[in-house]
Amino acid sequence: MRILVTGAAGFLGSHLSRYLLKQGHSVIGIDNFITGSVTNIEDLLKNPKFDFTKYDVTNYLHVPGKLDAVLHFASPASPIDYLKFPIPTLKVGALGTHKALGLAKEKKATFMIASTSEVYGDPLINPQHEAYWGNVNPIGPRGVYDEAKRYAEAMTMAYHRYHKMQVRMLRIFNTYGPNMRLKDGRAVPNFIAQALKGRPITVYGDGSQTRSLCYVSDLVDGIYRLLMSKENNPVNIGNPHEISLLELAKAVKRLSGSRSKIVFRPLPEDDPKVRRPDITRAGKILKWQPRIGLEEGLKRTIAHFKTRV
Ligand code: UDP
Repeated sequence: MRILVTGAAGFLGSHLSRYLLKQGHSVIGIDNFITGSVTNIEDLLKNPKFDFTKYDVTNYLHVPGKLDAVLHFASPASPIDYLKFPIPTLKVGALGTHKALGLAKEKKATFMIASTSEVYGDPLINPQHEAYWGNVNPIGPRGVYDEAKRYAEAMTMAYHRYHKMQVRMLRIFNTYGPNMRLKDGRAVPNFIAQALKGRPITVYGDGSQTRSLCYVSDLVDGIYRLLMSKENNPVNIGNPHEISLLELAKAVKRLSGSRSKIVFRPLPEDDPKVRRPDITRAGKILKWQPRIGLEEGLKRTIAHFKTRV
């Protein structure tokens, strides 16, 4: 297949592009580098099947030749980035999704939107299944991301219903692994960088809030299975193993052999108290389930971060 990936230089986009190339597909990557980095794709740039252009997907998109799939993965995805780039975050989810859908329609290609567990907001049920409508504050600091992704899903569904397009809606839960930025701001890279530098490990709030962390190779496997399926409805992809942030901080400290202190800092506004995917649908439709446990995934990620710190 010939596949366009937006956000190809980002954490997920680069892992996904590498995987698609390994499966024998050709990849056209685009990224505007506001949060992506060329170091994530340095190895791919040597591959003749990878064609990269620096471009902002919120502008009109023209790609010559055939395309079999358009995968829209461009977006800031860390809470500190939503605060720094609130308007680009809204634009890439809204205008960027519109442009990418338009291109997919023109090429009769399958469209995939990288949606998120943030569509569930600060959820009132746990675990979250795909039929749950969510609990989102539209005007809170996270609203720029949550609402952009909810709009992106609405637009994707409209193109599916009205234009009869093949669409894939992937709801990604917390994911971690090599190539996250050291200063990404999210819990896993923060904790690992702090532990390796011997700095205090900053747990926000009392650390009782929970997340469920998926190792990146498991996520990419789920994405590929969804792309190859015929499922037009949203599918949660994530690891249902739920832990508190305090437990996570302790695990990172132990696995990195760090003597850092664990310290407590204020909880950011609208920080979800719980998050855990119900992956029944992914299991049934995609025969997918995560394989890498937290301990193994953290060990691999810590080993990678050691080369960077
Ligand atoms: N968090 C933390 N310390 C940090 C960074 C994040 O305790 O240095 C907390 C954050 O408040 C949230 C959880 O870790 O409760 C996960 O945050 P992250 O930014 O990784 O992603 P989110 O799931 O909130 O989008």
